[in-house]
Amino acid sequence: MPAALPILRSAKQMLDWSRRERAAGRSIGFVPTMGALHRGPLSLVQRARRENDRVVASIFVNPIQFAPGEDFESYPRDLAADRAVLRASRCDVAFVPARASLFPHGFQTVVTVPGLSAPLCGRFRPGHFEGVATIVAKLLHIVEPDRLYLGQKDYQQSLVISRMIRDLDLPVRLVTAPTVREEDGLAMSSRNRYLSPEDRRRAAGIQRALQAGARAVRRGLTSPARVRALVRAALKGIGRVQYVEVLDARDLTAPRRLQGPTVLAAAVFVGRARLIDNVVVKA
Ligand code: AMP
Repeated sequence: MPAALPILRSAKQMLDWSRRERAAGRSIGFVPTMGALHRGPLSLVQRARRENDRVVASIFVNPIQFAPGEDFESYPRDLAADRAVLRASRCDVAFVPARASLFPHGFQTVVTVPGLSAPLCGRFRPGHFEGVATIVAKLLHIVEPDRLYLGQKDYQQSLVISRMIRDLDLPVRLVTAPTVREEDGLAMSSRNRYLSPEDRRRAAGIQRALQAGARAVRRGLTSPARVRALVRAALKGIGRVQYVEVLDARDLTAPRRLQGPTVLAAAVFVGRARLIDNVVVKA
């Protein structure tokens, strides 16, 4: 049996570890996660493994990125299982901090990326991206990685973090990796476990609807409203649609006519699961 994956609990332990590795000339790839790991985040670990000498994953269900009434309390937590799959993906160490160590009494500083945080999920999850940017900024200071790995599944998150890295001159390279999908196209997500078998079957329709919109864009449709309507029509019967947006993929602005990289994004409640997905296409 291989030794269990080492777990570091304090910021000091983590930073000491990273500084030792870097002093020895080894590069570090970092994958922040909230645990309940599946093939999506594990694909980031595997990519980081190929591109760095050392791989760090963090597991932390970040309280400040959940709005009141969201699933913070019930978010799936299974450290033993996460530890095993990280080990199998050849991660070197997991950083698993206690809540009070990252958010001590009196904590108040936040990082806000207002423009990119406003549309899409930002409209419905107040404070979410502020919570994400703040925790990622903190983790980057604690881990000091050479490369940061995020999934395209959370497209807006990746743009927010990319902007933050540039604006704050953080010395890290962002790598955004493709969405890992089930065979029927459903984007893998820790929230898929909330789906009943019937909901699970329907949920695959989200990606099909976005692909139908993307095909229309590729064929030359340049009206965002018409593409949105097409996707909405294709989503009929799948669940309660929270949003469908068709935006400039570079800065999430709403163009009058589609031109260049375009992101089609949707959030849909299927049963009690809120599922998001996106497709990027060139108009
Ligand atoms: P989470 O634990 O949900 O915050 O996800 C951890 C990381 O895995 C984030 O960078 C996500 O964007 C990424 N991720 C989640 N699902 C997928 C997926 N299906 N494919 C690729 N990356 C993913």
